[in-house]
Amino acid sequence: MKIICIGRNYAAHAKELRNELPTEPVFFMKPDTALLKENEFYYPDFTKELHHEIELVLKICKAGKHIQEEFAHKYYDEIGLGIDFTARDLQEDCKKKGLPWEKAKAFDNSAPIGNFISKSELELSNIRFGLKVNGVYKQQGNSADLIFSFDKVIAYVSQFVSLKVGDLIYTGTPEGVGPVKIGDRLEGELNGTNFLNLQIK
Ligand code: ZN
Repeated sequence: MKIICIGRNYAAHAKELRNELPTEPVFFMKPDTALLKENEFYYPDFTKELHHEIELVLKICKAGKHIQEEFAHKYYDEIGLGIDFTARDLQEDCKKKGLPWEKAKAFDNSAPIGNFISKSELELSNIRFGLKVNGVYKQQGNSADLIFSFDKVIAYVSQFVSLKVGDLIYTGTPEGVGPVKIGDRLEGELNGTNFLNLQIK
């Protein structure tokens, strides 16, 4: 399986990192070795500025390519919560040099994943989600504020990359990204319910 991540999909977040609003989706990938299903994450030694990015995650249930937007909803059946860990210091350096971001984004365990829920139980254009660090809300978002909807993202990405069953799409983070440190306790919520717990070790 592969992990596809959408960047700059919430206007307020694009602004906080001083990025321009995209006119088409920005995407990058993480390998399967990035996926972390455990509740413990070990702070990597190659970064001094590891940022949390809480994101709604689509689970692909049907293989496809060149998927049309009107049929895109048939290609994912569950929605979950994940963190797109980002070594912001490395990413800024890569961006400055015009280099790819992989080492800042695709490293081992950089994609913690929590629970999933059937999408039939959600109002897709109104999913509230957020991240608490040590009990304090740091990020709060709503799918209503997505620049590119879930269906648009699937249609766009599948023009370039075939989707397979089990692939995950991290759909972008709302504003409020920031550093984590050893000892922090992260809790992700979806519509007020706990979906993800992570201890930084
Ligand atoms: Zn992200």
